[in-house]
Order: sequence, then C-alpha cells, then structure tokens
Amino acid sequence: MSTLDSLPPLREVIATYGLSAKKSLGQNFLLDLNLTASIARLVGDLHNSDIFEVGAGPGGLTRALLALGARKVLAVEKDRRFIPALEQIRSVYSHRLEVACADALEVSPTMFLRSPIKIVANLPYNIGTRLFVNWLESSDWPPAWASMTLMFQREVAERIVAQPGSKAYGRLSILSQWRCDTHIVKIVPPKAFSPTPRVASAIVSVYPLSEPRYPAELAALTELVRLAFRHRRKMLSTTLKNLPLELPKDLLCAGIQPTQRPEEVTLEQYCKLATFLQCRSAFIWKTSAP
Ligand code: SAM
Repeated sequence: MSTLDSLPPLREVIATYGLSAKKSLGQNFLLDLNLTASIARLVGDLHNSDIFEVGAGPGGLTRALLALGARKVLAVEKDRRFIPALEQIRSVYSHRLEVACADALEVSPTMFLRSPIKIVANLPYNIGTRLFVNWLESSDWPPAWASMTLMFQREVAERIVAQPGSKAYGRLSILSQWRCDTHIVKIVPPKAFSPTPRVASAIVSVYPLSEPRYPAELAALTELVRLAFRHRRKMLSTTLKNLPLELPKDLLCAGIQPTQRPEEVTLEQYCKLATFLQCRSAFIWKTSAP
C-alpha cells in the first residue's frame, strides 16, 4: 500500500504485470508517488476540472491526480500492456477514471470530457512536440482546453519559453508565446525516472490567451516561421525570397533589418510580417483566379 492511496507501490505494479519499458514508446516512468503528487499540485484546481492525461503508463501521475481530487481523468495509453494496471486504479476510483487504449494523436480531449479540461502528461518524448503543436494549432481559439501541464525533455521546454537572441528561440517559442503564457515550473532530474534517461526533463505550464498576443493568421505565421528557421544562420532577406513578399520593403515595414537572422526577430515583428504575407498571398490569389 502507498501513502497516496490504498493501491500497491508502483514498483510492485510493474513487477506484477511484467511492465518492462519500451524505448520506442518513450517509456520513462515516474515511480515516486510524492513526486507525482507534487506535479499534480502544479495543475491547480482539480476538483472542478476534467483531466486529459496522455501516456498514463503504470499510472503514477494518474493516481496522484485522482487522489488529489480530480473530477474526472481520461487516461489515454497506447501500449495495451498497461491497461490491466490502469483498470486496477479504476477499481478504486470507478466513475472518476476512464481508460482509453488509443493513440493520443487520434483522440481529442473534447470527445469525452467536460469543460474546463486540463491537459496533463509526462509526455512520450518521441511524439511530445507533435502533440503539443497539434494542441497549439487548434482551429478554435481560445481552445477547448483551459491549461496544459506537460513534462518535456528540458531542451524542448527551454525552446517553448525561449526569448529572441537565444539559441533555443525558434518555431516552438513563437507559436507557443503567440497564443499562450508559458513557464517552466519544475526541473526534474534524470534519476526521478525509471529507466533513467540521459537528459533532464522540465515541466511547462501553458495557459491560453483569450486572443493571440498580436494579430496574424495561423497559416501565414507558421509558414513564415517554418521558412525563416530552416536556415538559422542565413539572413531573412535570403531565406524568405521565395515568398510572395516585397523584399526588403516588407521586412523594413515590420521593423526588421534584411540582414537580421531569424533568432533576432521578435514575435511581434514576425506577426507583422505574417499579416503582410497574408495580404499579398490573398492579392495574388484574387488576381490569378479565373
Ligand atoms: N505517465 C507515466 C509516468 O509518468 O510514469 C508514463 C509516462 S512515459 C514518459 C510516456 C507514456 O506514453 C508511456 O506509457 C507510453 O506507452 C505512452 N505513449 C507513447 N506513445 C503514445 C501515444 N501515441 N498515445 C498514447 N500514449 C502513448
């Protein structure tokens, strides 16, 4: 029995169900229930929230979220070997836990949960960034989720919160900070996981803004930033030359020097340039339409 609930300690669960970790599914487990409880507390109010948990594994974080009072948890886990262990948790928390054996890339948090929905996960590192970008690129904004509390490899977390002028600043920083407030709230050392990864991890809290920080269209901004950061060391006047922009005029109007490198440009400047791109693309589309 653990100090968090009446269920067995996680090491015992792993031994009982023979849950060896698979690298291909990014399986690095948190086995200390005090640590998972401290992560669950970072989520804020749980009693009035439904939780979408990606990659529940043996259920350390799931148990903490439930023990601390989450209204409901939908635990999505792709590896079916973990389902019996998760069903054992369900036998204690019954109607507050739903378990789905599915690929999280194919499940929408809104399919089964009620607002406010909070996304919480110790993300599998191999698809963590992809899942995060999908949630950020929601076609509805503000999105259906009220917050995200996500564990990433530390290097990815640093890219999310990075400021211009730093090596970590890039597409992920721009998209995240355009639509959300983002903060690293906890660093978690490799030894907290089993098996022990080579690098540290960090938890990022993400709160959606009611409106994006600066006006721009998602498609124009993502395309612009994708091209700009394809060659980090090249000047923007070179990397953007195939876009329907008037260069260098549009760069200068956005406050950007044509010789600047992509990491020197602020979010506000990218958004301005994206609105020019959007207008000029629409103009080309209109004038070339039959
Ligand atoms: N939450 C558990 C913990 O903290 O100990 C496990 C976290 S482990 C880093 C990531 C989990 O995500 C693994 O259990 C893995 O099987 C699962 N996973 C990997 N890819 C997945 C996917 N596409 N959809 C759902 N779960 C996935």
